[in-house]
Amino acid sequence: MLGAMHGELNYNSPKSIAQFLQTHGMAPNRRFGQNFLISQGIREKIVGLLELEEQSNVWEIGPGLGAMTHMLLDKAKNITLFEIDNRFIQFLTILYSEYPHLKIVNGDVVKTWKSVYREDGLPDRIMGNLPYNTASMIIADLIEAGCVAPRMVFTVQKEVAARMRAIPGTREYSAFSVICQFACTVEDGGTISPGAFYPPPHVDSALVVMKPHGRFNFSRLPLVSEITKALFSSRRKTIRNTLIRSSLAARYGQENIAAALEAGGIDPGRRGEELAVETVVALAEFLSETSSRDDSWMV
Ligand code: SAM
Repeated sequence: MLGAMHGELNYNSPKSIAQFLQTHGMAPNRRFGQNFLISQGIREKIVGLLELEEQSNVWEIGPGLGAMTHMLLDKAKNITLFEIDNRFIQFLTILYSEYPHLKIVNGDVVKTWKSVYREDGLPDRIMGNLPYNTASMIIADLIEAGCVAPRMVFTVQKEVAARMRAIPGTREYSAFSVICQFACTVEDGGTISPGAFYPPPHVDSALVVMKPHGRFNFSRLPLVSEITKALFSSRRKTIRNTLIRSSLAARYGQENIAAALEAGGIDPGRRGEELAVETVVALAEFLSETSSRDDSWMV
């Protein structure tokens, strides 16, 4: 079966991977962003950035054929793999049948991680060479649900990495930047050229290292996220116009939104993309406190 073929698979050779896939009636699936990392140097760098300890509980998103997994297993024994492709699940199950602490979770990570979290708690590390088309969605999903491990290392498209690290007022600064920076410091782990993957993607990739900074209260994140999405819904409109036309105005009232802007010293004529994360958080704090004050007569 597939597992017996592992000896024929050289993770650093595009030819070997192509042959392996072909022998088993497979081909890289673009829909699942299957670009396999073929550089041992980059793999070693990722493992270094993870700063693993033997007892670390590690989640790997998208293990593919396991090129990173065996290196993770050398350093830490509690590993959980989240893989969407059934063909790889079959291969990984056979390949790692001897590892009692390795868990393999089949399906879309966005749909599966929460039950693992409920059972095992927050992992110490989360990593993944993520599929390009869904990387930001996967990262935002984890953060918005409060699943922020003490250290997370992701490979993403270079432009996505730039958005994660972007500062206010730049073209790259987006709702996704605010969500990432609300939870974590985002460090640049370096660029990876297309030649480090098989098949080579049409874009550059980059490594990002995320570490929670603990500056903000996570209970505010849903409102921060809602404000941010409203602010960035139309980049050319002013803060006043985007917020007043959003569902926030119906919920909090236009006067309260105007008061929140004034309290934060925010010029409503500016553009949303100029607001720093802490300013958006301050807006959310003000609106939450105002709405709980407004509700106080109900008690
Ligand atoms: N880790 C391998 C490597 O470095 O060579 C493969 C990385 S490849 C860029 C992305 C992997 O994520 C593929 O194995 C793909 O099947 C898997 N994948 C894509 N979407 C996924 C999802 N929503 N949930 C879990 N795995 C997913």
